Amino acid sequence: MVATNNNLTNVGAAALGYARRGWRVLPLWWPAKGGCACGGGCGNPAKHPMAKLAPRGVYSATIDPAVLRRWWRTAPWANVGVATGGGSGLLVVDVDPRSGGALERLPGPVPTTPTVRTGGGGWHLYLAWPEGVTRLPQALPGCPGVDLKGPGGYVVAPPSRHLSGRAYEWLVPPDVPLAPPPAWLLEAIRPSPRPAWQPLPGSGGAHGTPYGRAALRQELARLAHTPVGNRNNALNRAAFALGRLVAASHLDEGTVVGLLTSLGYQIGLGGRETEKTTQSGLTAGLREV
Ligand SMILES: [Zn+2]
Repeated sequence: MVATNNNLTNVGAAALGYARRGWRVLPLWWPAKGGCACGGGCGNPAKHPMAKLAPRGVYSATIDPAVLRRWWRTAPWANVGVATGGGSGLLVVDVDPRSGGALERLPGPVPTTPTVRTGGGGWHLYLAWPEGVTRLPQALPGCPGVDLKGPGGYVVAPPSRHLSGRAYEWLVPPDVPLAPPPAWLLEAIRPSPRPAWQPLPGSGGAHGTPYGRAALRQELARLAHTPVGNRNNALNRAAFALGRLVAASHLDEGTVVGLLTSLGYQIGLGGRETEKTTQSGLTAGLREV
């Protein structure tokens, strides 16, 4: 590890650099002794959040340099995770050859945009978050081995180290401007056009069990009719209740986050407030089960 003038390791310095770009950052466990430094025989070695420092996981991600310095002084070798979605202004296309993904098999040309060679031999394409999109499919339809990272997600960023011992590296550096999502990607992620939120027919989309969707409709309707002054609390309660249903697989997280945040904006809560409240309520609900 190279010490910098901030007395931070190169991963810590990189974390601060990403935060200066407005990318929210969180500390992840790192590889140690052929396994994960968490020592717990985890299922996601060298890639999962350090709960001691970031108790809400990706929702603890921040751009606050004081917090980041503290984290990387406490855990100098922590891998660096970059939160994706509107909060960071990032959509990341995750191409994993181990699951059959390949850059040349994407549905269209790859734009010039910051690009990472992952420690696992894949690629991360960093793209500008498309305005007006509040949710993403987890995977690119029809394209095996290609995942999409948006709200509630994160990617392991350079110079983090992979379990293999290889470091994540920038192939196209992060000071190259983020390209907007290419047409082939927008086509795949834009839902069929409909108003941001409708109180009725079957809102909740195709995802979730009938029980989950009924609960979702009820929570959204209740929230929509909450008087001014109570709305932030009501959003928090709805997110908590729905988080429990996500944990029980009655609903999927992307649907819940998307609908709650778009309704939050509509009832006049600020963007940041809506996002923060939704995420904290949801995280608490997810943990409750
Ligand atoms: Zn671990």
